[in-house]
Amino acid sequence: MSENRIPAGFGVTAETTAPTALDVHVLSQQLGRKVRDVAEIPARCVCGNPLVAATAPRLSNGSPFPTVFYLAHPVITAAVSRFEAEGVMYEMTDRLEDDAELAAAYQAAHENYLAERDRIRREAGIDEVPEIEGVSAGGMPTRVKCLHAVLGHTLSVGRGVNPFGDETLDLIRDYWTPEQCACDPAWRESFEAEEA
Ligand SMILES: [Zn+2]
Repeated sequence: MSENRIPAGFGVTAETTAPTALDVHVLSQQLGRKVRDVAEIPARCVCGNPLVAATAPRLSNGSPFPTVFYLAHPVITAAVSRFEAEGVMYEMTDRLEDDAELAAAYQAAHENYLAERDRIRREAGIDEVPEIEGVSAGGMPTRVKCLHAVLGHTLSVGRGVNPFGDETLDLIRDYWTPEQCACDPAWRESFEAEEA
């Protein structure tokens, strides 16, 4: 971890971004599959559970992996999927054409995403990944394709960086907000059972 960086993600401090064995277990429960290659926990619930898994841009099996911020919490992903099903992304993409300020903010979000991914890559001691150079996630910088990706970005770097991630966080407030825990206690209980 770099010494001078203050993480801006939801619910994390410099002391709590390193993934623990419990975090990896909870992420695996959240996603319903064994999670690997977790480099960082960039956002946490008020209860401490991970919301997002940060993965270095090359997996241990050699595959390039552009989506550094992977939204893992099933309550959040389900809430986001409701709005994706309504096609909110198309309306967002259309606004980029008419609103130069918004387009510039989204371009800056894309650049922040790439910079964050490069930081995580360097901290993980991984070589550059030319296959995905300049490619971020979610359709950035010219389209909005995946609300999960843009919200994962907002949760990981804080509000004020990704305008569409911020909007998505507002959209889902009837289903999930950062102030309230919506975690399943079983995610942790099964870890304690494993340890015992
Ligand atoms: Zn929680």
